[in-house]
Amino acid sequence: MIIDTTMTIAYKCSSCGTFDYFGFSLFKLFNKKQQFVTCRCKNSGFSLGEAGGGRLKAVMPCLACGGEHRFILDCKEILTKGVITIFCPNTGIHLCFIGNDILVRRKIDALEKELDEMIDTLGYDNYFKNTRVMFDSLNRIHDIAEQGNLICECGSEDIELILFSDKIKLKCSRCPGSSIIQAASNEDLKKILRTKQIFLRGLQNTI
Ligand SMILES: [Zn+2]
Ligand SMILES: [Zn+2]
Ligand SMILES: [Zn+2]
Repeated sequence: MIIDTTMTIAYKCSSCGTFDYFGFSLFKLFNKKQQFVTCRCKNSGFSLGEAGGGRLKAVMPCLACGGEHRFILDCKEILTKGVITIFCPNTGIHLCFIGNDILVRRKIDALEKELDEMIDTLGYDNYFKNTRVMFDSLNRIHDIAEQGNLICECGSEDIELILFSDKIKLKCSRCPGSSIIQAASNEDLKKILRTKQIFLRGLQNTI
């Protein structure tokens, strides 16, 4: 039996918001101290090392919640499962994928396919200022709504979404209540990812 000890981490960069890949060998990792891996944008990165007992330790800054996530994984578990997905515990967004290179890239492909499907559905290729930010923002609004935290001041939860190239307008279908969510940059994305509740207000309340 051949055990492949090379692995790939796809990490959602806390600065540029894209996934960057980093390949490493478990053997080499266990001979070294913590190492710092930098994203191709050179503005952020994460540290990776050995935690003893055949475990791997990573510390990653998080684009979504602005915090830093530390996690320890059992290498045997990664090898058995093939690929492990780590989510931000505060916002639920994908933080990284670790495991077999092919499987990790497949996971990213699946995420990107969802994005492509959204673009196809809307019929626009270059409509959005930043398609990925728009996609992540929509997903977040969907989660907030699912938890019953997208409400209009009139009490209605029947909210309409209108997409602009750089923002999302939320409009109550019962009253003039509305709210604008900016969705053009990673800064905008950070804001919506940290939002737990969206409350729509009528025109008379907006200044
Ligand atoms: Zn980056
Ligand atoms: Zn986080
Ligand atoms: Zn309303």
